[in-house]
Amino acid sequence: HAKQEGDQHWRFFSTEMEANTQNRVQLLNELRSDLNLGRGLELHYQPQVSPTRGQVVGCEALIRWVKPNGAAVSPEVFIPLAEYTGLIVDIGDWVFAEACRQIVRWDREGLPPFRVGINISAAQFREPDFVAKIAEVIASTGVSPKRLELEITESVAMEDPESVARQLRELKALGLRVAVDDFGCGFSSLGSLNRLPFDRVKIDRAFVRELTPETAEDCIATMIVKLARSLGLEVTAEGVETESQAQLLQDMGCKEMQGFLYGKPMNAASLEAWIRQQGD
Ligand code: C2E
Ligand code: MG
Ligand code: MG
Ligand code: MG
Repeated sequence: HAKQEGDQHWRFFSTEMEANTQNRVQLLNELRSDLNLGRGLELHYQPQVSPTRGQVVGCEALIRWVKPNGAAVSPEVFIPLAEYTGLIVDIGDWVFAEACRQIVRWDREGLPPFRVGINISAAQFREPDFVAKIAEVIASTGVSPKRLELEITESVAMEDPESVARQLRELKALGLRVAVDDFGCGFSSLGSLNRLPFDRVKIDRAFVRELTPETAEDCIATMIVKLARSLGLEVTAEGVETESQAQLLQDMGCKEMQGFLYGKPMNAASLEAWIRQQGD
């Protein structure tokens, strides 16, 4: 498209792209080699709480990458790159296995059981043996599948609704739960909440950010929560940063919250300490 917009623009665009492409290729090579060498990648865990019950109900596993030179790269940068090239499949395998191993470690430490959300990308669902691999890791780690909640965005389901629906049913038959992530922004369709066997809706953080009383966001969020609950789904709001957002969401009937107001993503040991301290 850029070419049609005139030579001037095209030349500029082309040089920019080349530079970016080089950076991206380099970043991907570094990521691939760190993954293969088993260094630099770590899972952090962000608490999810039920304010009414005043307790942690779960957490979300979020990948972190620190390069050998000490520079942290945001998942907002490297996850889309990894998705584009398919490296996300190997990363996703590592993330899932590591989360399962961590749950078993927390159990051994005597931590009360809680749910762990794990992000799964579209490319993982495209692997014909995706569900089989999940089953294998569950068996080999001995983790209880009830503890696991896979988070997928709707765009995953839109690619191949039939096949994704079947995979989701198979995952649920294994005992896992499934959440639709980032709901309310992008091209979310209300119908998918009914068509696919989701257990939970996670309201997008971009949406929560704009929440103030009697705005369009307020109305839409109210409707999403109402719809989700009438379909028997649980609701978690992401990116809750202020008491007033939390109050609005709670008034709507949203029972679970995740956001900096409660806790930032932290490493496994810190989450363990955080949970023990909540119990005091
Ligand atoms: P997500 O799955 O929607 O995860 C929630 C993101 O919101 C996380 O960003 C989290 O740190 C951030 N967040 C939570 N509460 C707040 C808040 O109160 N304020 C603000 N400003 N941010 C908040 P993070 O860790 O940078 O991850 C970004 C995205 O990268 C994730 O969005 C997810 O799409 C992707 N991602 C992260 N880890 C993985 C992974 O292991 N696998 C895959 N496939 N994707 C991942
Ligand atoms: Mg997520
Ligand atoms: Mg999300
Ligand atoms: Mg997101």
